[in-house]
Amino acid sequence: MPDPPRQFYRAARVANASMDGWLPDHAVGVANGKIIDILPAADAPAAETIDLGDVSLLPGLIEGHTHIPCPPRVDAFDIISVEPNEPALMRAAHAVGLALRSGITTMRDLGSKNEVVFAVREAIASGVIPGPRLLASGAPITRTMDHCWFWGGEADSPEAVRAMAQTNADQGADVLKVMASGGNFTPTSNPRDRQYPSETIREIVEAGKPGGIEVAAHTHAADGIRAAVEGGVRHLIHCRWLSQDPSEGFRYDTELAQRIADEGIWVNPTIGLGLLAAEARERGDAAPRRNPNLQGPSPREQGLEILRDMRDRGARFTSGLDMGMAYADFHRAPAEAWAFVQDVGLSEWQALRIMTCDTAEAIGVGDNVGRLAKGLDADLVAFLGDPAENIRDLDQPSAVLQRGQRVV
Ligand SMILES: [Zn+2]
Repeated sequence: MPDPPRQFYRAARVANASMDGWLPDHAVGVANGKIIDILPAADAPAAETIDLGDVSLLPGLIEGHTHIPCPPRVDAFDIISVEPNEPALMRAAHAVGLALRSGITTMRDLGSKNEVVFAVREAIASGVIPGPRLLASGAPITRTMDHCWFWGGEADSPEAVRAMAQTNADQGADVLKVMASGGNFTPTSNPRDRQYPSETIREIVEAGKPGGIEVAAHTHAADGIRAAVEGGVRHLIHCRWLSQDPSEGFRYDTELAQRIADEGIWVNPTIGLGLLAAEARERGDAAPRRNPNLQGPSPREQGLEILRDMRDRGARFTSGLDMGMAYADFHRAPAEAWAFVQDVGLSEWQALRIMTCDTAEAIGVGDNVGRLAKGLDADLVAFLGDPAENIRDLDQPSAVLQRGQRVV
């Protein structure tokens, strides 16, 4: 038997296994879709080596929060709240290809119709369409006519909520999503309102347990954060601490924030979306409609100040741009890393870990992806420049490999 074909990819900078520094002029060996070796370029067999040049080689990016059928436009609500499945499927198939070519080799969808997202996941897994390894929640569980009701996850009573969670789990959900507060996107919803008491959220957590399925809770509201944490949720999405009282703006609870940090509950603050929106405003681009129910102030800078306090308390962050929302196109994942550095004050390497190994661990795939180390999947992405010096260099990749196959 001949040895399986192998290839070595040489780069000026290769991320080390702990994702906190570069190995200068190294090569990553790949065979059968796995990483087989990482060694100084001089020791790699020349005949089997491809020189990627003066690039920074990282593990494939892990994007923690997408809505693949959603067009990233200011009028998206008007489109997706009424359209049938067929155009949504076409758009979702396009979105996952765009994401993969941008260097995202794994992503987690946190809310789409079951008929769309599970079909796309299957099409990627069976090689019918290109796309990242996809994990999906299916329809987010929400109250009647409340946030993202149009994806089919409406449930009001504890029994109905439990049944909806069970349906999603039975259809193959990798994670369960609950709307613990209202959202900006849905005009019949109020982001300051808690949707469910903690006992109802607990029903979802319990429904996921037999299959080892964790729960992610969308919440802009401080009351929603409390209900989610007390209900046993492991992933807080947005986590924005809006007070129910519009005149108060935010209601940040430091004791609860400390509990989130101490219990290792993952936080996806979706700040890259705010960064992209601010840049769009500066350009004079059209803005999404303001949610008529959202009253009172919620200045971005105050939200960031809260986030910096959560950082100081030891909260762990994941990536997740909320792809599919206005300005958050499916190739813009790095904007979340930019915001972690620029707005939260994390180091470049901390942000790079969030975009790779930390989020891989959070979503349960850390044994297979998220680092460059022997035995892991050969998901590699090369960027020109040095994102550990300038995080904005984490942008258009010059090469992307998915399980050893070159896609860019
Ligand atoms: Zn979302």
